[in-house]
Amino acid sequence: MTYDSSPITAIATAPGRGGIGVVRISGKDLHAVVQALFGEQVFKPRHATYIPFTQADGSVIDQGIAIYFKAPHSYTGEDVLELQGHGGPVVMQMLLNRCLEAGRDLGLRLAEPGEFTQRAFMNDKLDLAQAEAVSDLIEASTEAAAKSASQSLSGVFSNVIHNLVEKVVHLRMLVEATLDFPEEEIDFLEKSDARGQLATIQAALKQVFEQAAQGALLREGLNVVLAGQPNVGKSSLLNALAGDDIAIVTPIAGTTRDKVTETIHIEGIPLNIIDTAGIRHHADEHFEAGGEIDLVEAIGIERTWAEVDKADVILHLLDASRGPTRADETIIERFPDSVPVIRIWNKIDLSGHHASVDVMDDATHVYVSAQDHIGIDLLRKELLRIAGWQQTGESLYLARERHLIALKHAHEHLENAAEYAAQNDQSLDLFAEELRLTQDRLNSITGEFTSDDLLGVIFSRFCIGK
Ligand code: GDP
Ligand code: ZN
Repeated sequence: MTYDSSPITAIATAPGRGGIGVVRISGKDLHAVVQALFGEQVFKPRHATYIPFTQADGSVIDQGIAIYFKAPHSYTGEDVLELQGHGGPVVMQMLLNRCLEAGRDLGLRLAEPGEFTQRAFMNDKLDLAQAEAVSDLIEASTEAAAKSASQSLSGVFSNVIHNLVEKVVHLRMLVEATLDFPEEEIDFLEKSDARGQLATIQAALKQVFEQAAQGALLREGLNVVLAGQPNVGKSSLLNALAGDDIAIVTPIAGTTRDKVTETIHIEGIPLNIIDTAGIRHHADEHFEAGGEIDLVEAIGIERTWAEVDKADVILHLLDASRGPTRADETIIERFPDSVPVIRIWNKIDLSGHHASVDVMDDATHVYVSAQDHIGIDLLRKELLRIAGWQQTGESLYLARERHLIALKHAHEHLENAAEYAAQNDQSLDLFAEELRLTQDRLNSITGEFTSDDLLGVIFSRFCIGK
């Protein structure tokens, strides 16, 4: 990756008001920048110095703490100067402007999003999975997600990947050595127990994948579509499901007219809930008027259905005291077969049903009372089961979709390798090639041999100042 090595600066703390705010500067050699800002003041590395931050004319912007980190003992692996002042947006902006002005002739410029962390990556302070964990830790929406992001950051996930790579490399070395002596190829697989080694790697990879998938669930959550007629109890159900989490229920206006997304958490797993008010509204209208929907509405409906297609689970809420209406049946017909459906019969306090779970051919039926909080735990368990959540009690590392895909590809290459190993003509060169591809895939997780494009995408999603 191209590394524009000019010194960079940004406000590292969150925008808004706070007790303190930090302006950070990083560069290969900050000596001249420090001099431009503070004259002959000498900062002892990693020591806090209480000092006035002044304008060029000597007037004081703020009094604060300066900490100097000498390369390579810093976050970025470069020289870093941190200026901690009072955390007001105006004073921080003044301090940042002052730094930019003082360092302009020295090439100092504003940092791009994620650029500090990108430098840490380029200077081998962090590998790519750890760099991603920095961003995941900052963005974690639950304690569980924060905990596992911090696991990944500390290198637990990277180490697991490294161990896998080592095993693959070991087997590759054996194979490649044999390729140089064709007369020995014949019984190589027997002698070296290559098949046994391969099986061990496959088993290890499978375990990593399963754990990563759990970690990814904490990060990505489950996409849930909530469908049902007016007054069937959708809001009440959301509140009941959210439980103590209710304080962090955050309605976000959707992009389409009728769509609203809120996120609640069950055991730390985010459920991204899409309310299908749009579908209901238009399905009814369409049904009663017998047709004629305008174009904008039609697009809205299509978008909502696109969401339904992408969902991990559909919650179809019905009134247990009344049974399904015709509009319910219209909706049911359109549910895609690929998405599991939980049919939730609400208001069992009125209907007299017992709280229960019934797995039927078409869907899982759960009987609840949202109002009286009956059967809600059963529903939670059912949701976690569909999500594939296993409470292992083990600490998880947070993984991303990107990691899962890489692990999947690695798995496929190992399967190919196993096939070649099973063939009688012993296509050793092909076997070796599949091992090489496996290694590449695994390495892409930690960022060895990762394309510049991918790196660009990953770091550009960071916040500024990180
Ligand atoms: P929504 O329009 O689907 O969001 O439905 P609401 O959650 O607003 O509920 C509609 C009405 O049904 C409200 O008066 C609720 O108090 C009532 N309700 C919701 N759940 C239950 C339930 O389990 N039992 C009873 N008896 N009433 C309920
Ligand atoms: Zn309409």
